[in-house]
Amino acid sequence: MRELAQGAVLPHAEAVDRDHRFPEEAVKAAAEASLLGVLIPREYGGAGLDALAFAICIEELAQACASTSVIVDVHTSVGSEPILLFGTEEQKRKWLPRLASGELLGAFALTEPASGSDAASLTSSARRSGGGYVLNGTKTFITNAGRAGLYVVFARSGPEERAAGVTAFLVPSDAPGLRIGQVFKKMGLHGSPTAEIVLEDVEVPVENRLGDEGQGFTVAMRALDSGRIGISGQALGIAQAAVDESRALLAESSREQGDDFLLADMATRLESARLLAYHAAWLCSLGRPFTRQASMAKLHCTDTAMQLALDAVQLAGNEGTVSGSPFERHVRDAKALQIYEGSNQVQRIVIAREVLR
Ligand SMILES: Cc1cc2nc3c(=O)[nH]c(=O)nc-3n(C[C@H](O)[C@H](O)[C@H](O)COP(=O)(O)OP(=O)(O)OC[C@H]3O[C@@H](n4cnc5c(N)ncnc54)[C@H](O)[C@@H]3O)c2cc1C
Repeated sequence: MRELAQGAVLPHAEAVDRDHRFPEEAVKAAAEASLLGVLIPREYGGAGLDALAFAICIEELAQACASTSVIVDVHTSVGSEPILLFGTEEQKRKWLPRLASGELLGAFALTEPASGSDAASLTSSARRSGGGYVLNGTKTFITNAGRAGLYVVFARSGPEERAAGVTAFLVPSDAPGLRIGQVFKKMGLHGSPTAEIVLEDVEVPVENRLGDEGQGFTVAMRALDSGRIGISGQALGIAQAAVDESRALLAESSREQGDDFLLADMATRLESARLLAYHAAWLCSLGRPFTRQASMAKLHCTDTAMQLALDAVQLAGNEGTVSGSPFERHVRDAKALQIYEGSNQVQRIVIAREVLR
C-alpha cells in the first residue's frame, strides 16, 4: 500500500489540489491494486480483506493525497458495503463485482439540504408505483456525485415517523430523472467531487430496494459505523503526513527545544489516535460490537489530524502559510473530516449514549 500510495498517488497530489481535478491516475492505480474491492469477498471479485486492512489502505492513501483517500473510502465503505451487509444474493452478484473492479464507483446519498446531523428527518420520498417505487427529492454534499455509477439512496417510503419510515435503494447514475445539481467548491479535498443529486420521478424497480421497507435507517447507521473506521484512517494519513513533513523540516534546520517538544507531542498524539482506530477496526473485523470505538476513533483521529496540521504550519512558520505548500493543504483537507460521516458533536452524542447504556 505504501509503495502504491507514494509511487502512484503522491506525485499527483499537489496538482489535484491546485487544479481541483479528479485524481484519475490515482483511482485507476487503486482499482488495479484491488483496493476498490478491499472489503468485498473474493467470490464477488474483491480482495476479501478485513476492516483493519481497509483502515490501513485508506491511511496510506490519505498520507499521499487526502482527495484520493476520500473517493476510495466512500466508494469502499458506505458506497459498497451496505450491499454486502444488507443485499440479496442477486444484488451482491449483480453489483459487487462491478464495484470491486472499479467499473462502477459507489456513493452514499443520505444528507439533504434540511437534514444533516438529524438524518432521520429526511424528506425525499419513495412512492410505491406498479412493480417498484418512484423517488423524488434532493440529496446534498454527496461525495463522488457525477463520477459514481451507483448511488445508495435513502428515502421515505411510508407514513411512519422519522427513522421508521426510511428505506434504502440502489439507484444507477443513468436512471432517468437523476441529475447532478449544485457542485460545491470546497476549502479542501479539491479532487473529491461533492455535489447535489436531484431525483425527479426516478423509477426504481423493487429488486433495487436494499433491505426491507423501513430498514433504511439501520442500513445507513451500520454503514456509517464502519465508514467511521475509514474516516479515522483518512485522518491518520493526514496527521502522519503533517508529522513527517515537520520532522523533515526540523531535521534540516537549527531548532529550539520547544520545537522538539511540539514534535514529540504531535507524534504521541498520532500514535494514540492510531491505536484507537486500529482497535475499532479490529473489533469490527472480529464481528464484535464496535459502534462506540468507531465513534471514539472518528472523533479523536479527526481532531488529531486538524490539530497536527495546524501544529505543522506553526513549526514551518512562513513557508507553512504559502498556498500550494503541503502544510497549508493538510489544514484545508483536514477540516471536513470533523464534519462528515457524523460531525464530531454527533460522535459525542453516540459515545455518551453508548457509555451510559
Ligand atoms: C466534503 C463533504 C462530503 C460529504 N459527503 C457526504 C456523502 O457522501 N453522503 C452524504 O450523505 N453526506 C455527505 N456529507 C454531508 C455530511 O455528512 C453532513 O454535512 C453532516 O452530517 C453535517 O450536516 P449539516 O452540514 O447539515 O450540519 P447540521 O446538522 O446543520 O449541523 C450544524 C452544526 O451543528 C452541530 N449539531 C447538529 N446537531 C447537533 C446536536 N444535536 N448537538 C450538538 N451539535 C449539533 C453539528 O455538529 C454542526 O457543527 C458530506 C459533507 C462534506 C462537507
